[in-house]
Amino acid sequence: MSRVNDGIVIVGASAAGLSAADGLREGGYTGPLTVLDEEAEPGYDRPMLSKSLLAAKDHAAPAPLRTGEYLAAQGISLLAGHGAMGLDIDRRLVVTNWGEAIGWQHVVVASGVTARPVVTAGGTPLPTLRNRADLAAARRLATDGRPVTLIGGGFIGLEVAAALRSHGVEVTVLDANERPLARLVGDEVADWLLGLHRANGVLLGLGTATASVEETPQGYAVHLADGRVRQAASVLAGVGTEPSTGWLIGSGVALDHGVVTDAAGRTNVPGVWAAGDIACRWDPFHGRHRRFEHWTHAIEQGRRIGLNIARGEAVDHDAVPYVWTEQYGRTLHMLGERRPGDTDILVEGSVADGDFVVVHGTGDALHAATLCGRVRALRTFKKLLRARASLHDALGAAASA
Ligand SMILES: Cc1cc2nc3c(=O)[nH]c(=O)nc-3n(C[C@H](O)[C@H](O)[C@H](O)COP(=O)(O)OP(=O)(O)OC[C@H]3O[C@@H](n4cnc5c(N)ncnc54)[C@H](O)[C@@H]3O)c2cc1C
Repeated sequence: MSRVNDGIVIVGASAAGLSAADGLREGGYTGPLTVLDEEAEPGYDRPMLSKSLLAAKDHAAPAPLRTGEYLAAQGISLLAGHGAMGLDIDRRLVVTNWGEAIGWQHVVVASGVTARPVVTAGGTPLPTLRNRADLAAARRLATDGRPVTLIGGGFIGLEVAAALRSHGVEVTVLDANERPLARLVGDEVADWLLGLHRANGVLLGLGTATASVEETPQGYAVHLADGRVRQAASVLAGVGTEPSTGWLIGSGVALDHGVVTDAAGRTNVPGVWAAGDIACRWDPFHGRHRRFEHWTHAIEQGRRIGLNIARGEAVDHDAVPYVWTEQYGRTLHMLGERRPGDTDILVEGSVADGDFVVVHGTGDALHAATLCGRVRALRTFKKLLRARASLHDALGAAASA
């Protein structure tokens, strides 16, 4: 094993990793810059996998995040199909599945998450939707004409349901919660969203967890926690994620369901940083470490970390959390974070019409806003949340809009 490089190594060539590379160059770093990814064709628009790419009748490839020409012009060396297998913090090496030992002055961990596996009683993992290969399998479900049961009614499950309905597939969504997504958007918006699914012919099996799944000659038997059994021809699971930290176990980098960092993205090991879905970052506002699994956050935080390294800074990344979902041609935007016990107040439009702004808060504290069809209000509510404005201010802003 020979040592190569000794510049900056980024593990993961997706939203966070590629943005960190951009931030490094933008911040003036001119040395060697290597981005590794275990996927053969990494760096594509992941959110579109469960939206337009699955809904489309053609089999278009996911849009690349960077072109080869751009990477070459920026002097970014992308090693596709090279997985990091270990991190040596004493000798400052990343070791790959090809046996390379890549030296680093700084390393950015941006290896993201994988879909949490659901395994049948016989040990077979159920299909999930996280990457390019999963899309190919999901497309087969869309076209083989068999009914599909989706285990999990979160963002991925509901987006996949909507995309499969556009192919005319019979779809059932199972979820342990009576109102999936209510924790994030409140009861009224969650009910409206479920109503959209019902109106589009989705069958909903809510309020009972899936206990186990068994393979049968016809497909699957899904055993529910209340003892009922549902037969399913095809299934796809969307029940959360697991951080891709396996390659860091034993390295000395602090892990706690993700890579633990300070607000600026630094881990406990000097020179080791983490960005994106995998980063369990100190959140000064909430006073605890937490992960965000949002595309925009991964891009912004990755870039910030690149700038921090290039400029020798430790600036916090403290943007307002933002996530969106697209279902049946509607885009729901969520800013900030709704908290348990929050009151949900409609401040503009009508939820029933799918054209609204709902704010979420407790007492006079504004925590979050959920918008649909009112894109121009996004900027206003983002500003209010960034300024830690009160609920009173949010109501005033809506009244004067
Ligand atoms: C189907 C789907 C739809 C989504 N829709 C939305 C949405 O509408 N809005 C939104 O805000 N967010 C959405 N998300 C979430 C969003 O995609 C993630 O927040 C974002 O991709 C995180 O970027 P990341 O760079 O941190 O990690 P990832 O995108 O997970 O990338 C991590 C990369 O690291 C690589 N890797 C892992 N382990 C190793 C290793 N050991 N060595 C080398 N490489 C490794 C992986 O191959 C991968 O390319 C969606 C996610 C999915 C799966």
